[in-house]
Amino acid sequence: MEVRVRYAPSPTGLQHIGGIRTALFNYFFARSSGGKFILRVEDTDRERYSDESLEDLYNTLSWLGIEWDEGPVVGGPYGPYIQSERFDLYKKYAEQLVAEGKAYYCYCSPERLEALRKEQAESKSEYQGYDRHCANLTAEERAELEAQGIKPVIRLRVPTEGKTTFHDILMGDITRRNRDISPDPIILKSDGFPTYHLANVIDDHLMHITHIMRAQEWIPSGPLHVLLYNAFGWEVPLYCHLPMVMGKDGQKLSKRHGSTAVRDFRAKGYLPEAIINYVTLVGWSLDGSTEFFSKEELEKCFRLENIHKSPAVFDYKKLDWFNGQYIRATADDKLAGLIVPYLQDAGFVHDPLSEDEEKLVSKLVPSVKERMKVLSDVVPLTAFIFRDEPVTDKNVYIGKGADLDKTAEALRKGMSILLDGVKAGRSQEDIENDLASLASELGLKVGGVFQPIRVAITNSTVSLPLFDSIDMIGIDETERRLERGLKILEEN
Ligand code: GLU
Ligand code: ZN
Repeated sequence: MEVRVRYAPSPTGLQHIGGIRTALFNYFFARSSGGKFILRVEDTDRERYSDESLEDLYNTLSWLGIEWDEGPVVGGPYGPYIQSERFDLYKKYAEQLVAEGKAYYCYCSPERLEALRKEQAESKSEYQGYDRHCANLTAEERAELEAQGIKPVIRLRVPTEGKTTFHDILMGDITRRNRDISPDPIILKSDGFPTYHLANVIDDHLMHITHIMRAQEWIPSGPLHVLLYNAFGWEVPLYCHLPMVMGKDGQKLSKRHGSTAVRDFRAKGYLPEAIINYVTLVGWSLDGSTEFFSKEELEKCFRLENIHKSPAVFDYKKLDWFNGQYIRATADDKLAGLIVPYLQDAGFVHDPLSEDEEKLVSKLVPSVKERMKVLSDVVPLTAFIFRDEPVTDKNVYIGKGADLDKTAEALRKGMSILLDGVKAGRSQEDIENDLASLASELGLKVGGVFQPIRVAITNSTVSLPLFDSIDMIGIDETERRLERGLKILEEN
């Protein structure tokens, strides 16, 4: 049996971490088992649909390099793969169920249903939901309602007795009493649009989907879907509901934890390699210890058996760590290409780069590479090269355990050691040693000397290594800034 799996998002919002985790698991399972990965757009909810979401879906998948074998744009033997282009088909299948007595037309007005709901709520009746008012209308009764111009919905007959079970590869058998399944849910709306459940089941069947891998939130829909498969007389695919994605506090991952839209991660400068690697580890592991996986490796080694059952935590810090690792593993010239847009957006360099800017960028890459967690970090790290905005708050210059007077003295003595040393061509190490000795002479920690120097030169406490910074702006500019720093400290 050829594995056929699908990612079936609804374009009602931006692609988020949980969604692409589902996409990645499906994609890697298809690749590692020699099967097909299908993309299906579930846009039955026309009210929540947005073009922006659909575009974001395509952009995100292509940025991650997840290619689908069948789906929108590329087509395939069971298309179209966008549900709104398949509406006639759902109607046909729903009517078939009516003809077979497995579903029926319901003419109840929204007012009647609302009154029913209220009444049930007030009487606290155990029975909730539709009262099957139209379940047994005669042909005459129906004809009369039709004659009034009422457009019916179609409801599925849910058995009142018995149980429905489905098997989940991870969770085992999941059983629900039929009477607990929403009584006779609507499968086709009065405007002829399908509901999510109908379209989902029909498409999974017609597209020959073998495994349904989706978020655990969909488990409650499972029994209803099985009833639909049964009503059609179709084989039920295998289910594999994926562990929930949680924040570090054990709550379902949401905007409260931070941004979850992949687009935002991309904008901040996360690399697709890092996202793929880390997100795949959210609820999956090969051997419990291997951490680094390229996309190509995952395309070979991903197995369903290794998906975890328990909820998985998405840790933003861990992703930062992975991203830093991938940045450091990126070749300098490639990294230069990746950071240039950030420098351009900040207005630091021109688009396109001038020749001098190009040289400067190549020069700063090895230095920033070691210090970036995300590509956008290049902006604060290098701002001092492109903009000169001195720190005027004296406190920023003062290292741990030092005071203003000592700091001024440290800067005065330190800058001459530094400037004389550089001009005389002394080694970095020698200069640093002398600065450290100065610190102990003054009764300061090394930071007490280095901090004012660093802040004066780079206008910041977070920046490139000291000697790299000097190299970037040149010794004359360095001298000018150090003198200015001293003035700031000595001013009243
Ligand atoms: N359209 C559903 C969603 O947005 C897909 C559910 C499923 O995969 O069956 O999550
Ligand atoms: Zn009715």
